[in-house]
Amino acid sequence: MRANWEAAIAAIRRQVTSDSFERFFGRLRYAEFEGGLLRLHIEDPFLRDWIDDNYRSLLEAQVSEVAGDAVRIEIRVAAPVAPEPTPAPAPPVVDATESSRFGGGTEATDFPELPLNPHYTFETFVVGPSNQFVHAACESVARNPARAYNPLFIYGGTGLGKTHLLFAIANALRAQNPAIRITYVSAEEFTNQLIAGIKNSGHGMEAFRERYRSRSDVLLMDDVHNLVGKERTQEEFFHTFNALHQSNKQIILTSDKFPQDIPKLEERLRSRFTWGLIADIMPPELETRVAILERKAERDGLTLPSDVAFLIASRVPSNVRELEGALTRVVATCSLGGRRLTRETAAEALKHVLSETDKGPSIETILRIVAEHFDVKIADLRGPRRHRTIAHPRSVAMYLCRKHSQASFPQIGESFGGKDHTTVIHACKKIEAAVASDPALRSLLQSIERKLPA
Ligand code: ADP
Ligand code: MG
Repeated sequence: MRANWEAAIAAIRRQVTSDSFERFFGRLRYAEFEGGLLRLHIEDPFLRDWIDDNYRSLLEAQVSEVAGDAVRIEIRVAAPVAPEPTPAPAPPVVDATESSRFGGGTEATDFPELPLNPHYTFETFVVGPSNQFVHAACESVARNPARAYNPLFIYGGTGLGKTHLLFAIANALRAQNPAIRITYVSAEEFTNQLIAGIKNSGHGMEAFRERYRSRSDVLLMDDVHNLVGKERTQEEFFHTFNALHQSNKQIILTSDKFPQDIPKLEERLRSRFTWGLIADIMPPELETRVAILERKAERDGLTLPSDVAFLIASRVPSNVRELEGALTRVVATCSLGGRRLTRETAAEALKHVLSETDKGPSIETILRIVAEHFDVKIADLRGPRRHRTIAHPRSVAMYLCRKHSQASFPQIGESFGGKDHTTVIHACKKIEAAVASDPALRSLLQSIERKLPA
């Protein structure tokens, strides 16, 4: 199988630009083959995720073709066995503790010093009207940590660049002051480490607290909406927050929900989240999306015709991660198939993406997203209860179904537990009227709409 892999990778090398080969495929190493599963290793966890999301099926196709049999591929993060030649000096990196993502230990006493992604900087972040406010806020915090805004709360839908901005701040701070102690952790990982600390009866909790409360000059906590309902974690984070804030350390948080909209969050945390500045990221406009694609193509050494860039940008309206994925897909499909990158080949590579988009989200998807957002049960949205805590989310869901799915009033009524179409019409009218005069409702709708599949 090693020979098949080498043949497949050699074929890929001939088909893609040498730059993208060096960047992606060339970093993969053969590890083992067993029972139809080819295991590959790669050093960089970001590249692993990236290749896994975007290229794995194409790699599988290529290897299967060479092998004449179906081969599945699994890519793991692993350091090379023999030392490799030292790479060119990398941009400044900072320590992180997101150990699970990096395959590190989860012991509370074991906080590996890990690099953050050096590609996530202010320079690589494309600024447009949708994100210029948050971008300016982040730059300002990076220039004046703990003086500009503390905490800085970044809020926006998935794939809009929240983590990118966190790392950009971290990289900028580290460039100014290499000794600064920056702790990056996702809310989920914080919870895992806390649990490990509690289980480790020795110095587990002490080490955990020391790490977060005394050994951090800057704390970056990603995805705080994941603190939902985790009482003990919230309690611990509350004390961490206070300790850092009191000693004038910068705290930066990201969330896909506005503090008021995070359900089951202790009031005292909620209020602290709003002490500093809340900056939200909106989905980028078409021109910004095109600019993001062009920037990425440039970085990868690709020539991207502008009609292709516009085509991709117009198909993926509200998630930059998916936008980048679509570009990768188009480029990989064309280069592996030996075809030129044109509007037609791009449209073909995105065929399935397009058809889903054109139909709009299904009623089920909208119900799920609305139920999650309000923290109510889907069954209640479909059921008869008229209490305001249910009736309001239900009206919102009906309104969004009418606006975003292609379902008719009677079809919507049917999906909401067999309600009459006049009930649906009434709910939609009510929300429409309220939207006109209620900015809080408008912002609520926008934050839900951002989560709807593009
Ligand atoms: P989030 O944390 O909000 O889910 P990420 O920060 O992980 O999103 O961003 C997803 C991808 O999109 C990353 O590769 C990031 O670099 C890219 N991205 C998002 N916004 C921009 C932007 N304005 N300019 C350049 N790249 C961006
Ligand atoms: Mg993120």
